[in-house]
Amino acid sequence: MRLFNTLTGQMDTLTPADGEALRMYACGPTVYDYGHIGNFRTFLQVDVLRRFLKLTGTKVRHVMNVTDVDDKIIRNAAAAGMTIGAYTAGFEQAFFEDLDALRIERPEIIARATEHIPQMVELVQRLAKAGAAYQTEDGSWYFRLAAFPDYGKLSKKDLSGMEDGARVDVDEYEKDSARDFALWKAAKPGETSWDTAIGRGRPGWHLECSAMAMEYLGESFDLHAGGEDLIFPHHENEIAQSESVTHKMFARHWMHVRFLLVDGRKMSKSEGNFYTLRDLLLKGYKASAIRLALISVPYRHQFNFTFDGLVEATNAVDRLRTFRKRLVEGSFAEGENPALQEAAKNAQEEYIAALANDLNTAEARAPIFELLRAANTAMDQGQLKAGDRDAILKVLTSFDGVFDVMEDRDAEVTRKALEWAEQTDRMGQVATELLVRQGLTDEAIDALVTERTEAKKQRNFARADQIRNELADKGVVIEDSKDGVRWKRK
Ligand SMILES: [Zn+2]
Repeated sequence: MRLFNTLTGQMDTLTPADGEALRMYACGPTVYDYGHIGNFRTFLQVDVLRRFLKLTGTKVRHVMNVTDVDDKIIRNAAAAGMTIGAYTAGFEQAFFEDLDALRIERPEIIARATEHIPQMVELVQRLAKAGAAYQTEDGSWYFRLAAFPDYGKLSKKDLSGMEDGARVDVDEYEKDSARDFALWKAAKPGETSWDTAIGRGRPGWHLECSAMAMEYLGESFDLHAGGEDLIFPHHENEIAQSESVTHKMFARHWMHVRFLLVDGRKMSKSEGNFYTLRDLLLKGYKASAIRLALISVPYRHQFNFTFDGLVEATNAVDRLRTFRKRLVEGSFAEGENPALQEAAKNAQEEYIAALANDLNTAEARAPIFELLRAANTAMDQGQLKAGDRDAILKVLTSFDGVFDVMEDRDAEVTRKALEWAEQTDRMGQVATELLVRQGLTDEAIDALVTERTEAKKQRNFARADQIRNELADKGVVIEDSKDGVRWKRK
């Protein structure tokens, strides 16, 4: 397959250097909060890549890190009065639940930063020996950018104005300034730290990915992936740390997934357009539709997330499922229809060709829906034969090996999201329609009644009436009295 390579700036063929398995590293989550849809777009596009490689006969050895120590984690854990381990455990578990909900395959190797401190310490020692790292008075270690003339080769930044010795010690920093960055941060009072040969402290974020990638994939490997926001400084720093000691190319191929917009704007909490996966599930959207929406725009294109788009994806998933059901459950005369045999063969070839061409998921979808239309018409006219059904089902199964939306596990995912909402006091965020669809528990009714009271207070009588009617449809009667609101089941 051909995939755009950020490092070379062109489409390059992606093949395993060892002829056996494609060794790939993808930057994983920092587990300090719930994952948002921008994060999951990246993980989903990497999932599409690994599934496509496997489908076309390439084995993969895929490593993903879990960042369970960094500036934000230390700050948030301290604010919550928890150890970083206790603080990150819940978010890590939530992250893996979200991957399962979106049917994202687990990488072969998942590496937690806090479990690879010795490898990171060793890398700092090697860097120091190579003259690329130095220690400051407080005991922290920094990477010396001046020791790595290739710095900037991935992001294509002009770093000629760079000041030797200017330092930065935060994990995420100004996009336009290149500075000596922290490899190892000396322990500050109250912070989690490790007692090591290079002093007491904790690793910087950039160091962990270099150390863990080389631990599991070797000093040079096939592909490194991540979101486009990681190109600089994170990936640039990974290259510098690794290549300064190995003098070998760190990753041959770099894949970056573009950020998404929400309703045409940057997603941010302050704009009120920030969505985690769980937010969308509680609004009543199905996990399969979210998966399809987030993968359907090719990874190098900006994806504009909208609720209309999610509805479109919901309908597309329904059409695929209904179509497959019709094929599986229908009875068809023996034989083959040459036109449909040809259509099935073409659809298979075209969707594979589209994915092999820089993972063009939009072009991969199109021939499958074309086949769906042709086959539905043929079924309506009694022109589809048993041999066609088998050929078409084979195409659908192959396609679904990558897209994975046809099997319906949505109700199960939604049920779990509702359980989580109940446990974490988020029932107020749950869409009424969803509660009605799932059947109403006492807690759900309580939440709706509270929402109705609030709506009335804000003189939003339309919403209040809507809730009353929806409850009435489910056999729940609300009684307003001077003692407050009561409800009962009819
Ligand atoms: Zn990384």
